[in-house]
Amino acid sequence: MEMFIIPLGTCSCPYEDIAPGVRDGTMVELPVPAYLVKLDDGKNLLVDTGMSRLHITDPGATWRGTGMNEALVPEMAPEDDLETRLTELDVRPTDIDYVINTHLHFDHAGNNELFERATFFVQREHYEFATGHPSFPNRYWNLPKLKYELLDGEMELFPGVEVILTPGHAPAHESVMVRLPESGNMVVCGDAVYTQDNLDHESWGGQADPAAAAESAAKLTRIAETENAILLFGHDPAQARRFHQSPQSYR
Ligand SMILES: [Zn+2]
Repeated sequence: MEMFIIPLGTCSCPYEDIAPGVRDGTMVELPVPAYLVKLDDGKNLLVDTGMSRLHITDPGATWRGTGMNEALVPEMAPEDDLETRLTELDVRPTDIDYVINTHLHFDHAGNNELFERATFFVQREHYEFATGHPSFPNRYWNLPKLKYELLDGEMELFPGVEVILTPGHAPAHESVMVRLPESGNMVVCGDAVYTQDNLDHESWGGQADPAAAAESAAKLTRIAETENAILLFGHDPAQARRFHQSPQSYR
């Protein structure tokens, strides 16, 4: 098994939206990743699909005029197109067999529509919450041509790949354990934890349900300790600099 951390641009926002009480009043440029996992049977799995490539030419593509999230500034270079990043790895959209969405926000499901051949895995409770909800722009993922398999709770989806329930950022948000043979256990946290600062400062006020988010973070921290796992945070600039980005990989 092999995993690539794929950089798909950045989204700037006021830091108090992410980690209130840490550096209020500053803007921070948050990395937006997706993850490609090459499974042992040769199948290709994506975890999340990043922000829509529409933002390359139009940063306001998602939120302009909506009255929502207008403090967010997406920034994507042409090479931050997920299709372009996959091509660098000799993978075409039709080569993607599965996609796990940690959740269906615009920066995690923005390119779902590229993967018509894939089976998408999302928690049923999350999918139902997000359907028709303006905070989860449905045009990126709620499409008849896409095939969803809705999950009810935690499970091993593939050998070495497990979904872990981590609500708080959104109902039935899920994180993904990936057990790599050489690099060891890595958990794609999604937005259960945005950055190390959330853990260091116990700052959960930026989450939809802060109490549930604190509990989910404690659960992930426990897993990290007992399973000797590395936590890959949703949008941590320092961590993104420290970890190899695609086309380098973890095996
Ligand atoms: Zn996010």
